[in-house]
Amino acid sequence: MQPDFTTHIQTILADIEAAGLTKRERQITGPQGGRIALAGGRQLVNLCANNYLGLADHPEIIEAASDALQRYGFGMASVRFICGTLDLHRELEQAVARYLGKDDAILFAACFDANGGLFETLLDAEDAIISDSLNHASIIDGVRLSKAKRYRFVTSDMDDLETQLKQAVSDGVRFKLIVTDGVFSMDGHIANLPEICALAERYGAMVAVDDCHATGHLGPQGRGTPALTGVGNRVDIVTGTLGKTLGGAMGGFIAASQPIIDLLRQRARPYLFSNALAPSVAAGSLKAIAIAEAADDRREKLMRHTRKFRAGLIDAGFELLAGETPIIPVMLGEAKLAQDLAAELDKRGLYVAGFFFPVVPKGKARIRTQMSAALEDADIDFAIGAFTEAGKQLGII
Ligand SMILES: *Cc1c(COP(=O)(O)O)cnc(C)c1O
Repeated sequence: MQPDFTTHIQTILADIEAAGLTKRERQITGPQGGRIALAGGRQLVNLCANNYLGLADHPEIIEAASDALQRYGFGMASVRFICGTLDLHRELEQAVARYLGKDDAILFAACFDANGGLFETLLDAEDAIISDSLNHASIIDGVRLSKAKRYRFVTSDMDDLETQLKQAVSDGVRFKLIVTDGVFSMDGHIANLPEICALAERYGAMVAVDDCHATGHLGPQGRGTPALTGVGNRVDIVTGTLGKTLGGAMGGFIAASQPIIDLLRQRARPYLFSNALAPSVAAGSLKAIAIAEAADDRREKLMRHTRKFRAGLIDAGFELLAGETPIIPVMLGEAKLAQDLAAELDKRGLYVAGFFFPVVPKGKARIRTQMSAALEDADIDFAIGAFTEAGKQLGII
């Protein structure tokens, strides 16, 4: 490497560090769960995994995955269209489609890839994508890869969405696709899908929802935000992940009408040029969907924790973002305060993560807590107590 390039990179790293924005990865030494083990044997109560239903270490999922490992081996060593399609992959795609009420589905290595392949494949320069300003990074990148005209509306602002739709109409575009997260991952609020779908109807647009933070735990049987808000039939495309509620391994998908899925199978670049999902992941995810669909008890526990933890933090005097999902952001402002609070909570046995720029806007640093059905009632009391003590110590409350 050129010496001045190395210096250039080191300068950027030093700037990140000086701004208090360095992200440090913590090593855990056992399974994901309500408690996690650290090297040296310390255990922490865990408030920051996307393990909403607590399925990441579910014994039946582990068994299904390990059976598939024995039967099909470790890996596929091929993309799907060469020799990488197992009966298991098609079973999983059909299970996803049935679960979400769509004709068919297509698997990707991650939802990041699903969103990366969606827009470029379906839309062209004559078309328009109208995207919520808080959409996930993978949507932003996916939109960038397509030639379609781009319109952005202020998050969840339906007047602005209408303005953008009118603009697209007056620009004479051919097809319009509105895209939104179902649940916004950093803020925890749910998209206004009924109004989005009504506007889509009025202006002749299609609707795509990225439901990564909802599939499996929100809505009836966990069918996500379209089902929760009663617009399951109007939403044209759902993208989602196998890496959160549905067992938490990895993998993403798009569910939609048959022609859309058929074209994605022909053209989506992250599908065509990337390896097929490992058999154990496909089998475990299939089992996870079956468990999630029937897991009203886990969903009830998750929402009970959500209500209790929200109320407890508000009573203690913390500033939260309003919402009703299991994502509960505690707003702190500066990155350093979020890091200090996370460190104080760690000392008290609670694992949380501070989020700051570039993951959230500057000055909007926060600790994003997430509830899980893997937590017990006593863990929620413990967590409220730890936040209250640490918050007082740092003068936040
Ligand atoms: C987590 C997430 C993704 C990425 O999912 P992966 O399967 O981990 O790549 C995409 N979109 C949203 C809204 C997410 O929350």
